[in-house]
Amino acid sequence: MQTNFTLAQLATAEIEEAESILRKCVHCGFCLATCPTYVLLGDELDSPRGRIYLIKRMLERGVAPKPSVVTHLDRCLSCLSCATTCPSGVDYGHLIDRARVHIDQTYRRPWAERCLRGLLSLVVPRPWLFRLALLGAWPVRGLARFLPGRLAVLAAMTPDRIERPSPHDRPQVFPAQGVRRKRVALLTGCAQRVLSPSINEATIRLLTRLGCEVVVTKGVGCCGALVHHMGREKPARRNARANIAAWRAEIAANGLDAIVVNASGCGTMVKDYGHLLADDPQWAEAAAEIARLAKDVSEVLDDLGIAPHEPGERPVVAYHSACSLQHGQRLHDLPKRVLAAAGFEVRDVPEGHLCCGSAGTYNLLQPDLADRLLARKVENIARTGADVVAAGNIGCIKQLARAAGMPVVHPVELIDWATGGPKPSVLKQ
Ligand code: SF4
Ligand code: SF4
Repeated sequence: MQTNFTLAQLATAEIEEAESILRKCVHCGFCLATCPTYVLLGDELDSPRGRIYLIKRMLERGVAPKPSVVTHLDRCLSCLSCATTCPSGVDYGHLIDRARVHIDQTYRRPWAERCLRGLLSLVVPRPWLFRLALLGAWPVRGLARFLPGRLAVLAAMTPDRIERPSPHDRPQVFPAQGVRRKRVALLTGCAQRVLSPSINEATIRLLTRLGCEVVVTKGVGCCGALVHHMGREKPARRNARANIAAWRAEIAANGLDAIVVNASGCGTMVKDYGHLLADDPQWAEAAAEIARLAKDVSEVLDDLGIAPHEPGERPVVAYHSACSLQHGQRLHDLPKRVLAAAGFEVRDVPEGHLCCGSAGTYNLLQPDLADRLLARKVENIARTGADVVAAGNIGCIKQLARAAGMPVVHPVELIDWATGGPKPSVLKQ
């Protein structure tokens, strides 16, 4: 794609990078068929190719975009299905990230939209505040349909049950069972530990059983993905720097073989810390080191090896491949392989490349499109004839649980159960 940036614009690292991404697009349109919003809306401006064009014009002009441009870019899920499909290697992810930052810095959203985004950025990354907000919203969740606009969406998303905080999420060291094979840090996250503390508990049991010493590192908090996807660059970088400092201190004191992440949206973010802080001379090297150490839990389990298990009286699993795992981290078959090694029959969900509509805060910010994607995903899940859905990202788990009509769990909860841990509570209900 031809671009028309001025020399002054090209002197900035951000525009230089955006230009090199834009120039790779050859307008072939292969990405259209795999873009969820294009599949739903059939509008070129809601396709990757259309958005790339809008981003080019917006960045070239360098001023606040029109509301219609913001609408088309806001509808993008950042699912990166287009990046997987693109034969020219267009790095759409970093381009839409740049576009979101530009919008955040130049465009004034309507008041209600600003409030909602501000509220989500403030509350969700802080587990104590998020739990408090859920407790406050819980009594009105049954009244969701009587509430106006986004309040109704927020109330409807409040879970049926609000879990107690898990003692596993406090900073501490869990010793390996038997001979220590690895020493790993676990990112316990923010929203996941509030919504589903059993996932970290299962991860710790499983990793220690397989010979890992697991550290929950003091000073590590939200990975920054939530604010990053809203274009809020400064707080995202702040989150990243705090985590890098904490993990580097742990590495210096006792060493780490890996940083394990069991929420793939967060994993994609931590694996991108090197890029996020590449222009910061003080942090670039450390960020790249942390990014190299970051592993999805399925990668670590594959590396440790799950002793083959005979298929027993186990549920058949429909594997929902989270976008951040299959497109963001290019890990599609590996989590299924690990589940199969633990003795589960695993079935692919048809149209598995399409997002379920969760996409971070997308289901709160774009509820209509998110609901349409969810309905389509649930139909495809039903076609598998499976008993349970497994997904490696908390956002997908909670989104699918709203409508799947069957239990939705994290793969580590199933593998932990198959290798000696307790049955996941959602399967007992
Ligand atoms: S990231 Fe997903 S929604 Fe956005 S343009 Fe690419 S395929 Fe479409
Ligand atoms: S597939 Fe790649 S090169 Fe082709 S239009 Fe889409 S982004 Fe551009």
